[in-house]
Amino acid sequence: MATSRENLMDWLRDAHAMEQQAQKMLEAQVSRLENYPELRARIQQHIGETRGQQQKLEACLAQMDTSASVVKDTVGKMMAMAQAVGGMMATDEVVKSAMAGYVFEQGEIASYKALIAAAEAAGEPGVAEVAQQILAEEEAMAKWLSEHLPQVVKTFLLRDETDGFAAKR
Ligand code: MG
Ligand code: FE
Repeated sequence: MATSRENLMDWLRDAHAMEQQAQKMLEAQVSRLENYPELRARIQQHIGETRGQQQKLEACLAQMDTSASVVKDTVGKMMAMAQAVGGMMATDEVVKSAMAGYVFEQGEIASYKALIAAAEAAGEPGVAEVAQQILAEEEAMAKWLSEHLPQVVKTFLLRDETDGFAAKR
């Protein structure tokens, strides 16, 4: 058994670990992208947002319990590394990377929708408000990736016909 408050705090820690994983993944993507400047710039912007999200989640936890620790991240970081390394092997790296990014954003969207409901149930409107703000950033990123994926794919295909190396990333 656990109280709504305890569950909410646990999920805030999960969200924080997810954002650390997100940062690792996005940084790995940005460091490897060379020939897709628009995608690179949008990911760079989202790295900044992701750092801010971690701070917001830390503030929520601290506000609920001043002695709360956010630490809960080892598994997530390892998964992000495995994902990044896996993508490097692919000859269609940029396409795999944009698709993986879109999938990750959908996971974040689900997490923040759950957090909002949990915060409301636990009587923490301040936390619900923060989760709503973060949700808006995740939805904007997912929308951007969704709208730009077709162009990334078409650019990749065109380049791969002439220069496979430049097309890859
Ligand atoms: Mg995020
Ligand atoms: Fe995100």
